[in-house]
Amino acid sequence: MKEIILLGATGSIGKQTQDIILDNSNDFSLVGISIGNQVNLLEGIISRFSSIKSVCLKNYQDFLEYKEKYPSINFYYGDEGLLELITNTSCSMVVNALVGFVGFLPSLHTVSKGLDLALANKESLVVGGELIKQEIKKTGAHLYAIDSEHCALSKCLEGKKKEDIKNLVITASGGSFRDYSLNELENVTLKEALKHPSWSMGNKITIDSATMMNKGFEIIEAMHLFGFSLDQVKVLLHDESIIHSLVEFIDNSYLCDIGPTDMKVAISYALYQNSRHLLNVEPLDFTKLNGLHFRKLDLERYPCLSLAYEAIRKGGSAPCVLNRSNEEAVYSFLKGEIKYTDISKVVQEVLSAHEVISSPTKEDIIKVDTWAKNKSEEIIRRLVKW
Ligand code: MG
Repeated sequence: MKEIILLGATGSIGKQTQDIILDNSNDFSLVGISIGNQVNLLEGIISRFSSIKSVCLKNYQDFLEYKEKYPSINFYYGDEGLLELITNTSCSMVVNALVGFVGFLPSLHTVSKGLDLALANKESLVVGGELIKQEIKKTGAHLYAIDSEHCALSKCLEGKKKEDIKNLVITASGGSFRDYSLNELENVTLKEALKHPSWSMGNKITIDSATMMNKGFEIIEAMHLFGFSLDQVKVLLHDESIIHSLVEFIDNSYLCDIGPTDMKVAISYALYQNSRHLLNVEPLDFTKLNGLHFRKLDLERYPCLSLAYEAIRKGGSAPCVLNRSNEEAVYSFLKGEIKYTDISKVVQEVLSAHEVISSPTKEDIIKVDTWAKNKSEEIIRRLVKW
């Protein structure tokens, strides 16, 4: 029986993780959760999982209220509470399904304690991948990516010799606006942006998919997870999102992973420590497919992806700035304050104002993140049309 802490229990990945744990209650027990804004869902989760011993909430007021209501459960609150939850709750795996920078310190804390980390919060690797890897080396913790592309790459790389591999090829849908002209992008609405062509996901990642910042993050994620250089991690636009990624070998042959566009496949693979298990998802019907389509990547259409390349080349603290400026800009777009095309403008301006620290410590990363947040807010204020 594997005891699990689930951070970000009410998001898209969090809910699907709950379902898998419940469907496999002989293998998993949910012992701790964290909830952000959707605290109204807490009672439902507690009634589904009597195994829950600890809960971390975002706000102090909610903490006081629920602590009194459920005296047998240990409650924590705030960002610090996420770390206390992990420290004080006995478990063997933490599933990190938080969104944004807030996921970084819990990820680092998890692997520092030698606990296995199932990671949907790819931002953790973007901002502090080196530090996370150093801790893993020290403690022997394992990292399993909850990301369809990286799950696919893990499967294709299994048992292969590194010298036989030419490139990793990450597929990308091209997002909500892949068929829009550059002119049309100037005036797209939030509703249009939230319509992803093939995956159903949370709001932040759906916007990151439209701008392809998500793909930039996934390149960084792949470099850290599999130890390849930037020029060996390629991106291929693929409309149907059925080929989840490919490995290209030195003899020009490929291995790819094909499957349904259902995140449960990747979640289950991570929970079972990179192995397959019976899963109740709709299988693919190849006879109903209208072919597989691919497009050439046009970076002019995806300035955020160009900025991700720039941050990767700069290295050190630059990806941390990339992440925070993007986070601020995307939430500002989601609130209707700035235009879709302003997202890349904010990121670009913050990134070029940053002086890179080549090997940032944890403290450096926290400072750089705060600096990037303030700088982004300053630029956003200028762009907002009140
Ligand atoms: Mg992905």
